[in-house]
Amino acid sequence: MCGIVGYVGNKEALPILLEGLKRLEYRGYDSAGVAFIPSGGKIGVERAVGKVAELEKKIAGMQDSGFVGIGHTRWATHGIPKEENAHPHRDCKNNIAVVHNGIIENYQELKNALCARGHVFRSETDTEVIAHLLEEESASLPLEDRLARVAPKLIGTYGLAVLDARSPEKIVAMRLGSPLVLGLKDDEYFIASDPAAFISHTRDVLYLDDREIVALTPQGIQIFEGGVQKKKEVQTLEWDVMKIEKQGFPHFMLKEIHEQPKVIEDVLRGRIDSKEGLAHLGGLRDVEKKLREAKRLIIVGCGSAFYAGSIGKYMLEEYAGIAVDCELASEFRYRNPVFNEGTIVLAVSQSGETADTLAAVHEAKHKGILTLGMVNVVGSTIARETDAGIYTHAGPEIGVASTKAFVSQVAAFALLTLFLGRQRNMTSVMGRHIIDELAALPEKIRIILSQQKDIEKIARKYADVKNFLYIGRKYNAPIALEAALKMKEVSYIHAEGYPAGEMKHGPIALLDSSFPVIAFAPQDSVYEKMKSAIAEIKARQAPVLVITTEGNTEFSQGVDDVIFVPKTIEMLEPISNIIPLQLLAYFIAVAKGLDPDQPRNLAKAVTVE
Ligand code: GLU
Repeated sequence: MCGIVGYVGNKEALPILLEGLKRLEYRGYDSAGVAFIPSGGKIGVERAVGKVAELEKKIAGMQDSGFVGIGHTRWATHGIPKEENAHPHRDCKNNIAVVHNGIIENYQELKNALCARGHVFRSETDTEVIAHLLEEESASLPLEDRLARVAPKLIGTYGLAVLDARSPEKIVAMRLGSPLVLGLKDDEYFIASDPAAFISHTRDVLYLDDREIVALTPQGIQIFEGGVQKKKEVQTLEWDVMKIEKQGFPHFMLKEIHEQPKVIEDVLRGRIDSKEGLAHLGGLRDVEKKLREAKRLIIVGCGSAFYAGSIGKYMLEEYAGIAVDCELASEFRYRNPVFNEGTIVLAVSQSGETADTLAAVHEAKHKGILTLGMVNVVGSTIARETDAGIYTHAGPEIGVASTKAFVSQVAAFALLTLFLGRQRNMTSVMGRHIIDELAALPEKIRIILSQQKDIEKIARKYADVKNFLYIGRKYNAPIALEAALKMKEVSYIHAEGYPAGEMKHGPIALLDSSFPVIAFAPQDSVYEKMKSAIAEIKARQAPVLVITTEGNTEFSQGVDDVIFVPKTIEMLEPISNIIPLQLLAYFIAVAKGLDPDQPRNLAKAVTVE
C-alpha cells in the first residue's frame, strides 16, 4: 500500500534511492528500507522504523553501494511496524531481496508449505513468502522467468521489485493490482510505485499493466507478458510533483474518494467465502469461542468512527441478533458503564491512536471485559492493547476529513456481521446474499463516482448557503450525521444531521426557503416514511436534495435536485449513499476557495482528549 523505488544505471544507487523514498514520504508509512549490491557482489540490506531520515542515518557515509538497488516505504498490513518486518525481505541464503506493495492473501498457506520444506522466516509479513518462493526456482533461469513461475502461486495484489546477487546488474518487477511505473533516462532506468519518486531525474515514463514483468539493466528495459516480450509506448509526463503525488487529482480528499471501490475490494480481500457464506477474520480467531458466547457488544468511537459504529449497530442487531450499544468514547470513559457477563467492547479508530477511544479500552480492560479493535493502522496502540481485532485495510489516508477510512469501517462492520451472524442464526443463504452484495459494491461506487460532474454542478448551486439539514432513517440515519459532519469539516457550513423521524420534534422550526435539506430516500423499508418527511419539508418551502435509488421516477417533480445511486441491500446503503455527499462537501469547499485536505482547527489523529 506504500512506496517502491528502484534504480539501475551508472550512478551510485543509494543516494538516488533515498531521494526517491523521501519523495514518497507524503503517502504516509511506518518504516523504510533499501537493498543494494556493492562491488563485492553480496546483497546489502538496511532498514529502519520511522522516517526515511532514520534510514539515512544508518547508511550515512556508506560508500561503494553499487549501481543497482531497490527501496521501500512500508505501510504495514501483516506484522507490526518493526525493523524485522520492514522491506526488503530476503530468502534463506540472502541471494534475493524483495520489496512489495499490497497483500498476499494466501501467504499463510504458502508460508506453512515453505516452512515444511525447511525455509526459515525472519519476519511476520506476507511479503517474505515471495523471496522464499523465488529461492526454490532454479538459479540457472533468468530472474524474470523465475518471477513468472512464482507469480501464479500468489493470490492477492502486488507491485513488487526483486534483486538477485547472482544477476547483480538487474532489477525485475511485476504488478497485479498495485501500480508500478518505469522511468527512462539515457543509460539509467527507474522503477517506482509512483513517478514522484524519480521525477527529478526524468519525465519519460512507461506504466506497467497487470501481469507484465519487466527486467531493468543498464542496457535497457525488457517487458514480458505470458513469456513473450512486448513493446510499450513511452509517455512524457507534463504533471508537476504535486500533481503526481495526487495522481492527477487536485486534492488528496478527491483522490481518496475515488479510491473507495478499491478500498472495498481490499477490506474483503481473502476474507469472504462465497460458497459457505462466511467471513474469515484472522484477527478474531483466538477469541472465536468468546464471541460465540457474547451477549452484548458496546461499540466505542469518535467522529466518523462513531457513525460507522452506529451503522454497525443496525447491521449486527438485524442480522447477528446480538444486543449492541454504540457510544461516544469521550462520554463512555467518564460514565460508569455497566458491564454484564458476556459484554464485549469494540473500539473503532482509523489511526488506532484516538485518545478517548483508547481510554475507553483501558476502562473496559480494567473491568475485565474482552476488548476488540477495528483500526486501520497496523500495530497502532489500540491494535496492540485490545485482545483481538479487525484491520480495515483502507491504506494511508492523507485528507484530514475521513472518507475512505470511514467506508472501510462500514464494510468491516458488514464482515463482522457476517462473522457473528453465521456463528448464530444467519443461514448460509443469507450469508451468501450479503457477500454477493458486498462484492458488487465497488462497481456501484464507480457508477456513483461517474456522476461527479453533476454533483459538482449541484455544489456550485449551494455553495453560498449558511445552513444544511441532513435527514435519513434507519441505516441512513447515521449517514445523515456523517454527511453533515463532512460538510461542516471541509466547507465550514453549519450542517445538522438528524434521524428523519426527529425532524418534527424540533428542527423543522428552522426550515424556510433559505435552509436546504438533504434527504436520503432510497427505495427501502422506510421509503414511504421518508417521502412523507420530504413532503413536509417542501410544505415549508425549503429546497430539497434527494438521494434515491437509480430508476426511481417519483422525485422527477416536486424536489429541487436528485442524485441517483444503484440499488443495494439496506445494510449496505450507507456505503453507496455517503459517496455523493463526500463529493458534495468536497466541491462546496473548493467552490468556496477552501483547502479540503487540511480543514482549519482539525488534526488527523486526535491523540489528546
Ligand atoms: N503487506 C506488506 C507488509 O505488510 C506490504 C505493505 C505495503 O504495501 O507497504 O509488509
